[in-house]
Amino acid sequence: MNQFLADRVRTLPQSVMLAVYEQAQALKAQGCDVYDLGIGEPSFPTPHYIRQAAKQAIDTGAYFRYPPVAGYDDLRTAIAHKLRNDNGIAYEPNQIVVSTGTKQALANVFLCLLNPGDEVVVYAPYWASYTNVIQLAGGRPVFIKGRPTDNFEPTPEQLDQVITPRTKAILFSSPCNPTGLVFSEASLTAMADVLAQHPHVLVIADEIYEYICFVERYTSMGALPEMQDRVITVNGFSKSFAMTGWRVGYLAAPLWLAKACSKIQGQLTSSTSSIAQRAALAAMEGDSDKLSIQYMVDAYRQRRDLAMQLLSELPGCKCNKPLGAFYLFPDISYYFGQTDGQSVIRHAADFCAYVLRAAHVALIPGSTFGEPRCVRLSYAVTEETLREAMQRLRAALHKLKPS
Ligand code: PLP
Repeated sequence: MNQFLADRVRTLPQSVMLAVYEQAQALKAQGCDVYDLGIGEPSFPTPHYIRQAAKQAIDTGAYFRYPPVAGYDDLRTAIAHKLRNDNGIAYEPNQIVVSTGTKQALANVFLCLLNPGDEVVVYAPYWASYTNVIQLAGGRPVFIKGRPTDNFEPTPEQLDQVITPRTKAILFSSPCNPTGLVFSEASLTAMADVLAQHPHVLVIADEIYEYICFVERYTSMGALPEMQDRVITVNGFSKSFAMTGWRVGYLAAPLWLAKACSKIQGQLTSSTSSIAQRAALAAMEGDSDKLSIQYMVDAYRQRRDLAMQLLSELPGCKCNKPLGAFYLFPDISYYFGQTDGQSVIRHAADFCAYVLRAAHVALIPGSTFGEPRCVRLSYAVTEETLREAMQRLRAALHKLKPS
């Protein structure tokens, strides 16, 4: 039946993360204990006060009808308030569009901005979905990548060199999935200086890991006064509030774009779930000291340090210390050309296939994120899982010999 499929889906690559997930599930079905460091999902349950708010929303019976496409007014107001207080960005509530996850917020933006052949400069390594969604919207991703020793942060000169008349926007996540890079105010200002010479280029700042950040001061691109009208800030509840399944994200944009995104969303999905929106409102308002977030962030920081320490015990793995998010992104190219006698590791995907087979540990190959010498390891799992997985990894890597 393949012949019925449209080109856009035929040319869409299969999600590597999904493939790893399926392989891990298949092993589990055979009775194996699989240690999944592949998926970027908090080990914590959604905090209690958020779940309570969702239950109350159901019980009032007031939230069973279609919500406004761009989200409930009180939620948009709370988001505008948060952006002003936490990030120093002045958005009005009508500039906010609440979506079915940050994923949809990004898709809305690309569908609204890109004509066929328009370019988006993507900071690499990047979150895997960026490239596919840009392409689905008809655009062309153009990558820039810095030196591994600089945590892959590209220089302003690199940015300047790739901008063409077809460039519509630049896109990055900070903290970055997968490297954990957090752009400093100085770096963002240097980017803004370059963009001052290219007024036709917008910025899409993906701040979904904003709260999972281990630096003292987090700066948003939208907070730079000269960038205010040119930045689209996307964010969501999945990671910081451990709400991956609730599917709530949002974008904040210049009014003309927020209206366009609302128009597109109105045709595709309408608003996200009413109950999930009430839960998101509680997430923002119910814990003004952010104590429940702080609890999780402290745990992630400890897990990062533990994961770094355990990784340092594996021969040949080089890794920058991530400043945010919950991933390590080590260079494992030391193992290229090595074998366990059954198969030779030629690249990161072979490495991941080997450790899944030999250690039952799921990792994601760095090629998915635009860096084939690395693999991504999520430390959002419990310390116990992390210790056991790293111990298995060490034993499996020990068996490898030059081919
Ligand atoms: N942006 C980044 C950088 C991510 O890592 C993810 C999820 O992994 C998303 C966006 C999508 O998140 P959501 O669950 O809100 O759709």
